[in-house]
Amino acid sequence: MRASRFFISTLKEAPSDAEIVSHKLMMRAGMIKRLGSGIYTYMPMGLKVIRKVEAIVREEMNRAGAIELLMPLVQPAELWQETGRWDKMGPELMRVKDRHGREFAIQPTSEEVITDVVRSEIKSYRQLPLNFYHIQTKFRDERRPRFGLMRGREFTMKDAYSFDRDLAGMQKSYQVMFDAYTKIFTRFGLKFRAVAADNGAIGGTGSHEFHVIASTGEDALVYCPTSDYAANMEAAEALATGTRAAPAAELTKTATPKASKCEDVAKLLGIDLSKTLKTIALTAETEADGKVTKQYFMLLLRGDHELNEIKAGKVPGLTGAYRFSTEAEILEVYGCKPGYLGPIGTKAPVTVVADRTVANMSDFVTGANEEDFHYTGANWGRDMAEPHITADLRNVVEGDPSPDGKGVLAIERGIEVGHVFQLGTAYSEAMKATYLDENGKPAPLQMGCYGIGVTRILGAAIEQNFDDKGIVWPTSIAPFELVLCPMGLDRSELVKEETEKLYAAALAAGIDVIVDDRGLRPGAMFADWELIGVPHRVVIGERGLKEGQLEYQGRRDTEATNVPLADIVEFIK
Ligand code: ATP
Ligand code: MG
Ligand code: MG
Ligand code: MG
Repeated sequence: MRASRFFISTLKEAPSDAEIVSHKLMMRAGMIKRLGSGIYTYMPMGLKVIRKVEAIVREEMNRAGAIELLMPLVQPAELWQETGRWDKMGPELMRVKDRHGREFAIQPTSEEVITDVVRSEIKSYRQLPLNFYHIQTKFRDERRPRFGLMRGREFTMKDAYSFDRDLAGMQKSYQVMFDAYTKIFTRFGLKFRAVAADNGAIGGTGSHEFHVIASTGEDALVYCPTSDYAANMEAAEALATGTRAAPAAELTKTATPKASKCEDVAKLLGIDLSKTLKTIALTAETEADGKVTKQYFMLLLRGDHELNEIKAGKVPGLTGAYRFSTEAEILEVYGCKPGYLGPIGTKAPVTVVADRTVANMSDFVTGANEEDFHYTGANWGRDMAEPHITADLRNVVEGDPSPDGKGVLAIERGIEVGHVFQLGTAYSEAMKATYLDENGKPAPLQMGCYGIGVTRILGAAIEQNFDDKGIVWPTSIAPFELVLCPMGLDRSELVKEETEKLYAAALAAGIDVIVDDRGLRPGAMFADWELIGVPHRVVIGERGLKEGQLEYQGRRDTEATNVPLADIVEFIK
């Protein structure tokens, strides 16, 4: 590629709505362009990375025996009604009507459609097992789209669906996918961890999430450094208490009257403050029928801070919201779903001093404005009643003994980039997807589903790999592997000639190379490529060439080194 024929558009400053580093850097590097809330154009430089991510995913999926197809974006409501998800999914499911008034969903995933394909195509046990996947646009009307590609509304996901005769077969298919995911994330060159996940609402028998490790991640991961134990916070909590997080109705007894001290609130909630100094708690008052009538928010911070009441008039059904004093020291926010918590009804940003969790804190500290409350009071109530919220009253902390008895627990933060799920027969039974077994008897198909957030991976990779100059892509997913920077291309025949030769040699060696022939000053040229995050840079200058030398600098190197012209391609490969 020649830079003059590609599209490069870099910015010195990130737009003000970009809160976290990956979003800022992707905007500055010209990889994405915002069209609307959670909706982005993938610009040429960003699309190159997406295509590389997709290629690795596709290769490993195919290698694992999965078969690619492509299911529609727009899916008839009737299918979604068969499984009950039309109602269950709530406002996150984007619904549209055609000219005849017929209803459709824009797919957030494709369980219904693939089950429909399989129930009409698969007759006999002889055709099993099967695993179908596609890499397709998804739409989820996220309550709070944010962080660029990290939590978009329109995004790209690879989703796969396995079909087996029995539980053992399904578990085998699951393991094959688990192993394929391990290979995929290893090839991306990212530090990641697979954690056991609670599969709560969907049911089924097992589930793991794959997380890219990053201090800005939304999720808390609990693991044991001296054993294999690893779980997300919700699953760790469920194990620690022996139960799933309490359903909303049970929260009634913890609903908090006006307490004025951290200790009082903790006592009311039955929290051991010596263990959970930094917990965020949420309580709700519910009616007997489970309807949430009142919501309370609290930040349980260090020390003995006063609770301040915040006016909550703007959200129907919400009568009270509390927080501790604003100047409190917040070291860590555990297990909270950012966006669920907020100084409700206030427009003015609240200053809370936070250090490394600023990205999480800012969600509810600076993010509270009218726009957050477009949805109805009823929806708000339902969101609040989601069981995982109560898991924030956690009793799993660093240093606790690991459930396997092989050490103590540590906690780190992660970004969910993949999720594998044993579905069992929930969908096949609802949709009557059966096959005929050896005795000619119909039996429901055993299913698994497996997602990878293709576009989210860009954000996650950057959160893990950046410096003050910009992005540091792992080579396998970098937009280009090598940039050639000729000095004085218009003045020196020698530079021009050697640049062309080197360009051809790199291409012949299979290196994804770009020549910067834009005629920029060296400083501006280098700054662009450091921002974009290309792993290898070679500067071609007349003086060096006369000595048979080129100047090489790896993206993480602090200075350049001379490499003999004859060796450069080998050196980079
Ligand atoms: P999250 O907990 O972040 O909302 P999820 O559990 O709802 O994600 P899944 O239904 O498990 O997501 O979907 C599979 C994968 O799709 C996730 O692991 C994630 O990588 C990706 N993904 C989900 N929602 C989004 C989004 N809004 N933007 C980008 N990627 C997403
Ligand atoms: Mg989600
Ligand atoms: Mg999740
Ligand atoms: Mg998930």
